[in-house]
Amino acid sequence: CGIVGYTGTRQAYPIVIDGLKKLEYRGYDSAGVALQQGDKLQVYKKAGKVAALEEFVGDQSTAGTTGIGHTRWATHGEPSDRNAHPHYSKSGKLAMIHNGIIENYAQIKNELLKDGYEFHSDTDSEVLLNFIEDIKENNDCSLEEAIRIALKRVTGAYVILLIAADQPDTIIAARKGSPLVIGIGQNEHFLGSDASPMLAYTKEVVYINDYELAIVKPDELILKNLGNEIITPFVQKLDLE
Ligand code: GLU
Repeated sequence: CGIVGYTGTRQAYPIVIDGLKKLEYRGYDSAGVALQQGDKLQVYKKAGKVAALEEFVGDQSTAGTTGIGHTRWATHGEPSDRNAHPHYSKSGKLAMIHNGIIENYAQIKNELLKDGYEFHSDTDSEVLLNFIEDIKENNDCSLEEAIRIALKRVTGAYVILLIAADQPDTIIAARKGSPLVIGIGQNEHFLGSDASPMLAYTKEVVYINDYELAIVKPDELILKNLGNEIITPFVQKLDLE
């Protein structure tokens, strides 16, 4: 299971697919990508290998300079196309990938079901995503703030990457207990479960810590804790031959 993200000036899709292949060694049962295309999000996902995802995408549009990708190791819900990530939120305006387990998802799911939410997968991940959107709508707050509120209420382990239809050129990422590395390039940023997806592009990386939230744009990396305090990223230079 692994995650990849890209935001910059190049086409995201080939970089994300290539990154997912570099993470294949971690093992997985499904794969998927989400791309920002103008003011819309496009999700492609498929049970099976990354090659099966590529075949499924075929010559459908993969345009977009911001994208996220996922390989899934199923914990909640069988390996299938519908349980594969990314998931769309109810409004279709958010897409999210998640590695890990949300332990208290059942309780949150019940609350959302009472509010009339309909779920399109059996995953704990889709519950977290709609919990975030529900908080955003009910509190009329920013996506970032909604993520912080949601993450303070969930237990378990996660690395999540979100993109939003109305926030172009932005990936919001957070982690607790699952790995997340951000690579820094020239007007571009790379995200990965480890540094392997970004090695061809940059040697400068930031290892994100538990309970940190990253707002990633092509020319900006803002790191905060869940208390909304800014953290100075610690940039490390990879020394790999
Ligand atoms: N718990 C999530 C699911 O079953 C994510 C699994 C993973 O880490 O890939 O879909």
